Amino acid sequence: MTTRINAVPRAVPAEEVEVPFADCYITTAAQHAALRVLRSGWLTTGREVAAFEAEFAGYVGAGHAVAVSSCTQGIELALRSFGLPRGSLVLTSTMTFCGAVQAIVHAGLQPVLVDVDAGTGMPTPATVRDAVRAYGPPAAMTVVHWAGDLADVPALAEAAGLTLDQIVVDAAHALGTSAGTTPIGSQCAATCFSFYATKNLPLGEGGMVTTNDPERSRWLHQARLHGMTADAWRRYLPGGSWRYDVAEAGLKANMTDLQAAMGRAQLTHLPAWQHRRAQIAARYDTLLAAQPGIALPHRPALGTGTHAWHLYPVRLAPGIDRDEVIAELAQRRVGTSVHFIPVHQLTYFARIASVPPAGMAGADTLFGQLLSLPIHPRLTDGQIDAVCAALADATHRQFTRKGAS
Ligand SMILES: *Cc1c(COP(=O)(O)O)cnc(C)c1O
Repeated sequence: MTTRINAVPRAVPAEEVEVPFADCYITTAAQHAALRVLRSGWLTTGREVAAFEAEFAGYVGAGHAVAVSSCTQGIELALRSFGLPRGSLVLTSTMTFCGAVQAIVHAGLQPVLVDVDAGTGMPTPATVRDAVRAYGPPAAMTVVHWAGDLADVPALAEAAGLTLDQIVVDAAHALGTSAGTTPIGSQCAATCFSFYATKNLPLGEGGMVTTNDPERSRWLHQARLHGMTADAWRRYLPGGSWRYDVAEAGLKANMTDLQAAMGRAQLTHLPAWQHRRAQIAARYDTLLAAQPGIALPHRPALGTGTHAWHLYPVRLAPGIDRDEVIAELAQRRVGTSVHFIPVHQLTYFARIASVPPAGMAGADTLFGQLLSLPIHPRLTDGQIDAVCAALADATHRQFTRKGAS
C-alpha cells in the first residue's frame, strides 16, 4: 500500500467532518448489563450466556445457539464437529478473512482456496467446480456471505458435491442477511457469527454458532469448554457437582457472562441498527450512482433476500489507483478499508493452502479495485455526504491527471 510518509500535514478546515471507518458502539443498557455482571460475583460462562444463546437462536430462527469466544473459534469447532480424518479437503473462498482459513488449518484440515466472481466477491458454481476438478471431492466447505450480501449456498454446495449438512456458513458479515425472508442461521450444519468490535452486533470480541441439530449443539457446548461434559460451568455453584468427564479433545473457546449480558442488551437494538445500515447504503447508492469510475456493491436481486450491509465495498474502475484514493481520503479524515487481501496472496497460505492451477483471476482483479466505505449505524447523513464528496474529488483528480499525462 502507498503510504505518504513525506506528505506535509494539511491544516484541517473547521467545517471538515471526520469520518471513522468503524464504530464499536456499546449502548448505555449494555454498559449497565456489564456492571450487573461485574457485581454478581460470576464473570465467566453462566446464566447470561445461556440466556443470550436462547435469545440469539430466536433472533435468527435457529433451533440452537452456542456462544463462543470468536467466530474464528466457532468455525474451527463447527468443522471439528464433522469428525473428519486429518487432512480432509475443505473448500473456502480466497476473498475472506485470514482467520476463517486459520480455523480450517487448526481443525487439522486442508484448505482449498476457491476463486471469486469479480462482480460479487464470492465463489460461483464454476469456480467451485474448478477447485474440485484440481484437487478432488472435498469433505466440507465454508461459505462466506461476503459484506453481508447473499451467497447462493445451495448452488455452491451442489457444485461441490456436498449436502447442506457438510457446509459451515461464515456469517461474520451476515447477521441481518436473509435468503428470501428467512434469516441466515438455520440452513446448514452450522452458521458462525462474530461480535468483533467492527461487526453488526459489536461486543469487542465474541462469537455464536447456530444449528438446528440438537446433537451438534450438545457436542459444540462441550467442545467449547475443554470437552468437559455439559454444564461443567455449574460445578462451582452451590449444589453443582465437581465430577465431570472428558470424552474428546476440546478447546478453551467459551464466552463470558460479561460479553453475553452486553450481547443481550445490544441485540434489542439490532433491528434499528440494521434499518439504519440499509438507509446508509441507499444514500451511498444515490450519491455515487452517477459518479464515473465507481461501481456500487452487488446485492441480492429484488425479492431474493436481504443484504446485512456489514460492509459497503465499492469497485474503482481500472486505471484509478486504489491506494492513492485511500491515502487521499485519509488526508481528508475519512477512514476506509479493503476487504480482503485475497488469502492466496498471504505468505503462509500461499505456502500451505491448495490453490487451483487455473489461478485466482477474479480475486486478483477485484482486490486491486476494492474499497470499503464507512458504514455503521451512528454515521450521519452529513458524514456520508462528506465521504462521497471526498471520493468524487479523489477519483476525479486521478482521471484528469491520467487525461493530462
Ligand atoms: C471478522 C471475520 C471473521 C472472524 O471473526 P472473529 O470473531 O474476529 O474471530 C471471520 N470471517 C470473516 C469473513 C470476518 O470478517
